[in-house]
Amino acid sequence: MNTDASTTPRALATEAVHAGREDLAALGVHSVPLDLSTTYPSYDSRAEAARIDAFAATGARPEGPPVYARLDNPTTARFEDGLARLEGAESAVAFASGMAALSAVLLARASAGLRHVVAVRPLYGCSDHLLNAGLLGTEVTFVEPDGIADAIRPDTGLVMVETPANPTLAEVDIRAVARSCGQVPLLVDNTFATPVLQRPLEQGAAIVLHSATKYLGGHGDVLGGVVACDEEFARTLRQVRFATGGVLHPLAGYLLLRGLSTLPVRMRAQSATAAELARRLAADPRIARVHYPKLGGAMVAFEVYGDPHAVIAGVRLITPAVSLGSVDSLIQHPASISHRIVAEGDRRSSGVGDRLLRMSAGLEDVEDLWRDLCEALSAAGAARPVSLPAPLPLPAHVRDAAARPQRTAAR
Ligand SMILES: *Cc1c(COP(=O)(O)O)cnc(C)c1O
Repeated sequence: MNTDASTTPRALATEAVHAGREDLAALGVHSVPLDLSTTYPSYDSRAEAARIDAFAATGARPEGPPVYARLDNPTTARFEDGLARLEGAESAVAFASGMAALSAVLLARASAGLRHVVAVRPLYGCSDHLLNAGLLGTEVTFVEPDGIADAIRPDTGLVMVETPANPTLAEVDIRAVARSCGQVPLLVDNTFATPVLQRPLEQGAAIVLHSATKYLGGHGDVLGGVVACDEEFARTLRQVRFATGGVLHPLAGYLLLRGLSTLPVRMRAQSATAAELARRLAADPRIARVHYPKLGGAMVAFEVYGDPHAVIAGVRLITPAVSLGSVDSLIQHPASISHRIVAEGDRRSSGVGDRLLRMSAGLEDVEDLWRDLCEALSAAGAARPVSLPAPLPLPAHVRDAAARPQRTAAR
């Protein structure tokens, strides 16, 4: 029997608690050392020059101290190692936010002359905006998943999808999409699923992106982003990060590593709550439509008959705020907030209607959440409209027959 802990594959729940921390016992500590240094002293400038040259040439993590905190940080590196392990990736590179992470990916591809991106809507509002506005000198073609292969050009550097997507929870078949990408790397924004529910690299994606602000942190108190990929692309990302400065603060790296340890239990518990809320909402006459992924997850979106703004104003336990993935439940109106920056026509055509609300289920008791949601829906007068389209007038013979007293069926 192979009992070597370094080669026996471990379950995700085990990795979540131990990855990035294997050396702690040997260091004689139990919690992760938090290194807040901005700079690292050295009396040997020749050695420092060699280290800087090596990083410039390869983008590999420097051996030993990092020279300067924009280059690397040992606490953040632990979070990167942990997340890479959970996603089944060779490497991961952390950034100041999800948007800083996406920016670095776009810059890395554009710097290789590959400025064209093919993307599937909906995407998180600011990702859509960054691509559509071409702020980084990139150009985007938005397509349906089955249009990806035809949209790819010689200068296409990236195909990007989000699944389940923010905010409609629309899903794409990662394997099928990966096949239509050919040699172009597929980026999957895995923020909503997390590696607990879905590991896109196993399905053919080349790059996984997270807004670590959401489930990875899990407590609404840290902003961060991370890209999981092969070491070759990670090296380019580290060079971009060094040059552009979108680094994750080490305290954020510390908190995100800590967040990983409870990620599997949080995802399971919050997903069970979201699934139950989705089931109840689907049966509720005040709700026109419920969106809940086949994959599961802790997000639920729904369209109300009544005024969505009144629902937001009516919640008391659930926090009316943008963002998601925290231990407490949040609700927001995508057309007003998370997707406000997307032009109205693009928003509507990607399924983000004015009556859509997006809720992030937390760890509260499901009955308390349901009561709060029900009261907000009722206070909003959000009931199935009484003014349903008037029934067509019945033909005379049917109307007359209906007016006659019913004979009891005696057959
Ligand atoms: C929030 C979010 C982002 C952006 O992340 P920030 O950490 O806010 O910069 C990207 N993608 C998805 C799916 C998100 O929900």
